[in-house]
Amino acid sequence: MQSYQKIVTAIDLSDESALVVERANAIATRNEAELHVVHVIEPLSLAYGGDIPMDFSGVQDQLQEQAEKQLTSFGERYSIPSERLHLMIGRPESQIHQIAEDISADLIVVGSHGRQGLALILGSTANGVLHGAHCDVLAVRVGE
Ligand code: AMP
Repeated sequence: MQSYQKIVTAIDLSDESALVVERANAIATRNEAELHVVHVIEPLSLAYGGDIPMDFSGVQDQLQEQAEKQLTSFGERYSIPSERLHLMIGRPESQIHQIAEDISADLIVVGSHGRQGLALILGSTANGVLHGAHCDVLAVRVGE
């Protein structure tokens, strides 16, 4: 059976992230693989830049600091060394693809809410990651 060597799991730092990391961690242990964790901060200017004429840099710094702390605490909880924790800035799908390429990951693990109907058509991060990935993608069912 194909065994994975480098796994990257993407977390949005919500409560559900623990489930996603735990699943990835279990697969990494079974395969004796290296486990990396990535969180992507979406720049506020990307989301609101065109609409609200405001300087977001202070808020952005605070968000980044907060995300750094949360990612570090995830790392400590699952004994993942700091060089395998990645904080990226940009659009989640493309940054997750980027880090997967950078570390030559052979598996990406994401959470999926199993949306249906319109929400599915509009797309989710898990969908976005699946499309365009150069390696296997595992969507861990989270939430309702
Ligand atoms: P969503 O489709 O936004 O509900 O997110 C589903 C999954 O995509 C999450 O469980 C994560 O695995 C991943 N994801 C969403 N947003 C981010 C983010 N900002 N950084 C890293 N992964 C993310």
